[in-house]
Amino acid sequence: GALPLTVGAELGVPTVHRTVVDFGNLDHAATTPALTAVAEAVSTVQRRYGSVHRGAGYTSRLTTDWFEQARTEVGAFVGARPDDEVVFTRNTTDSLRLLAHALPQDAEVIVFESAHHAALLPWPAEATLRLPVPTSALDAQSLLERALREGPAGKPRLVVVTGACNVTGDIWPVAELAAIARRHGARTVLDAAQLAPHRPVDIDALGIDWVALSGHKMYAPYGAGALVGRSDWLEAAAPYLPAGGATHTVSHRHTRWQQGPARHEGGTPNAVGAIALASACASLSAHRDAVEAHEAELLAALREGLAAVPGVRVHHVLGPAADGVGVATFTVEGYEPSLVSQVLADEYGLAVRDGRFCAHLLCETLFDGDGTAVRASIGLATTREHVERLVRGVRGLVEHGPSSAYEYTVDGWVA
Ligand code: PMP
Repeated sequence: GALPLTVGAELGVPTVHRTVVDFGNLDHAATTPALTAVAEAVSTVQRRYGSVHRGAGYTSRLTTDWFEQARTEVGAFVGARPDDEVVFTRNTTDSLRLLAHALPQDAEVIVFESAHHAALLPWPAEATLRLPVPTSALDAQSLLERALREGPAGKPRLVVVTGACNVTGDIWPVAELAAIARRHGARTVLDAAQLAPHRPVDIDALGIDWVALSGHKMYAPYGAGALVGRSDWLEAAAPYLPAGGATHTVSHRHTRWQQGPARHEGGTPNAVGAIALASACASLSAHRDAVEAHEAELLAALREGLAAVPGVRVHHVLGPAADGVGVATFTVEGYEPSLVSQVLADEYGLAVRDGRFCAHLLCETLFDGDGTAVRASIGLATTREHVERLVRGVRGLVEHGPSSAYEYTVDGWVA
């Protein structure tokens, strides 16, 4: 079997485990490996945990303390204000669904069509205005400005903003969009699934009302995420999961629900996941500069290396000048994206992703043909050698074609 190695220490970035069979991880935008610090935190908790908020025993009290400490740390990671609530959820999808559940009855939602399906779809269709895919950061701002100006000012309004695009890595002008929303009396929720692993997210500095994130995209395991932000809509809403933990008292006639985050955390919480998420937050915050420097170098090498291969196009939503994180999404003239990713996996030992990336409306706009592309995404388990290998692999495909394991059919090259 493969021996786990620890990589990252020499760069001053948080370390992750990697295997000696060096399958290059260029798929961080999908999910990330656990940091060694996170794996150690999980292992410590797994050996000691008890019931959260439900017992007087030592392990129960210990786990409850750890869980509540994790809440404070996750809040601090996104610059939560004293009145903000930190609700633990399963992931970004679940966090945005929770906010959709807590929308006031007459609220209107504005979302760009380029959003990930998790941010595009949870809102009531009849109360949602979809803005077209913008062509630049400025275009995004004027589209929003116009929609808010022409929309129903008297109603509660929510603007859904993407932090960083999962298809192209482009960073959205979050603070600018939030300021426009605020000027028109609207609130903002930030989908930080792709931004939080790479850049600081601060509720106050960005002027947003809520932020949603996923642990598994920022070096914690699957199954824990958070919604952080204003408490009023959350407190006024019916419990998201009406069950134990969310109840204050239950009588034959009446159920009184908890206030605070417990209101929406019915059932036994994923305390291990929450603690793991907090551990990842602590590591990322402590190593922010090293993480950004490591990623900036790899991303530049990746984008420049790919763009220099004839027939390869690296795509953007907000224009090539937009600041970006983590991702280079590309198409190779004459080759189906599915074939490119298959060749990279089989012949070069590299994990990339092809497809429409849960953002069908955006991909339809960006890519010709069947609207698919190849996405290479970097992170703390990516090395310079992986990036060079990827560029070599794509260049090899363009110059020599795929090996005899692949066939050319009327549909193009197939695996
Ligand atoms: N938003 C964006 C921008 C994403 O990239 C993702 C994950 N691909 C999500 C939301 C949904 O995250 P999750 O699957 O963890 O709920």
